Amino acid sequence: MVNNTFKIALDGPSGSGKSTLAKNLAKKYGFVYIDTGALYRTIGLFVARRGIASDDVDAIIACLPEIRIEMKLVDGGGRVYLGGTLIGDEIRTPEISKYASDVSKIPEVRAFLLETQRSIARENNVIMDGRDIGTVILPDAQVKLFVTASIEARAKRRYAELCEKGVETDYESVLNDMKWRDANDSGRKIAPAIPAEDAIMFDNSGMDIEETVNSAVEIIDKVYRK
Ligand code: C5P
Repeated sequence: MVNNTFKIALDGPSGSGKSTLAKNLAKKYGFVYIDTGALYRTIGLFVARRGIASDDVDAIIACLPEIRIEMKLVDGGGRVYLGGTLIGDEIRTPEISKYASDVSKIPEVRAFLLETQRSIARENNVIMDGRDIGTVILPDAQVKLFVTASIEARAKRRYAELCEKGVETDYESVLNDMKWRDANDSGRKIAPAIPAEDAIMFDNSGMDIEETVNSAVEIIDKVYRK
């Protein structure tokens, strides 16, 4: 199928600053911002609410047909709806982060969410943030960035983010959760969080948001012409 949309894939581990970068870039280029992690988190939320353990693979697969998940465009971004209800910060807790990481290892869950992600990119210029966007979801993306930063820098950012949202936690727990998620996300057999062969490695450890955005814009402008 011919399609002329422009796609930017932003992959990388948790806390690498992908979502902040993606939101800024989406604004600058007028693209739709898609946070694919929110889809896995929402599946995690559904499963948790059912009282199913995050590692009970059979029970999780069995409830997939009941899950009505949609992504709708609101103010230039994809918003997730579960059973018709808009999902918000209830998916940002440490418990749901763990659920999301566990459910995302299940091939049936990944297949279940594939079309929701691809269909948006067929109709819109997108900047999509996730783990397997450049490798699996949008292998034809014109720009692929694999965003990384040291684990300490990432944990610090995530901790500040959670504090700002009023989530009660401490730095050590955030760091430990992140180490666990890094191993769980990159060590899995299916769609591991690894860079696509044609991805540009983008380490932003020592950069603030403005520097990060400016360096990404330099890379994108070489490929994208309005
Ligand atoms: O990006 P975020 O931290 O919100 O993602 C939550 C979890 O969802 C990650 O730990 C990862 O396991 C999973 N995920 C994924 N593939 C994506 C996006 C997120 O497996 N494209």
